[in-house]
Amino acid sequence: MLNIVLFGPPGAGKGTQSQKLIDKYNLIHLSTGDLLRSEIAAGTELGLEAKSLMDNGLLVPDAVVIGMIANKVKENKHATGFIFDGFPRTVPQAQGLDKLLQDHGTEISCMIALKVDDEELTKRLLLRGQTSGRPDDQNEALIRKRVQEYNDKTTPVADYYAGQGKFCAVDGIGDIEEIFQALCDQIDSLKEKQQK
Ligand code: AMP
Repeated sequence: MLNIVLFGPPGAGKGTQSQKLIDKYNLIHLSTGDLLRSEIAAGTELGLEAKSLMDNGLLVPDAVVIGMIANKVKENKHATGFIFDGFPRTVPQAQGLDKLLQDHGTEISCMIALKVDDEELTKRLLLRGQTSGRPDDQNEALIRKRVQEYNDKTTPVADYYAGQGKFCAVDGIGDIEEIFQALCDQIDSLKEKQQK
């Protein structure tokens, strides 16, 4: 199986690139942000609890997101692979994911980080907020808080995968197709190694 963690701060282009990667490599896309927004839209208890945290740019508890991902992995037993987008965001989530995949007889193949600087992120998110309807993309202070939350809590996740020899980075600034090609180059070399 090919199990990729697509890593990067809010606005790095994870959603756009995930869409292209799932088409090319026939993967299932699991975005915890999208799953949480569906819960909010459906008015579930989980959604209600998550909403106030999300509206304040804070992370939802680990157990909640691990539980959602566990359900989705179970529902897709016959998948050829997954792209995890926006997850794991903390080291306990990464550990939970390792355990979960191990129980399914598989593992993370690689974490690929999209590198984009904070100023570019703020610019992109404010622009996205004009059309996405996402309240957390319309307020600059909140955007900066989300990026800060990412830098504080999520950066150690990169170290976690680096410690397993499973981390690589791609420049996330530039043409969408060029960034996509750089991601494909990383994935293709990984697949070659898997086949050896
Ligand atoms: P995203 O769409 O990935 O930018 O996520 C939007 C918001 O959902 C984040 O700011 C968090 O409040 C929450 N969220 C999404 N994924 C996670 C996660 N893996 N852990 C905790 N909170 C999350």
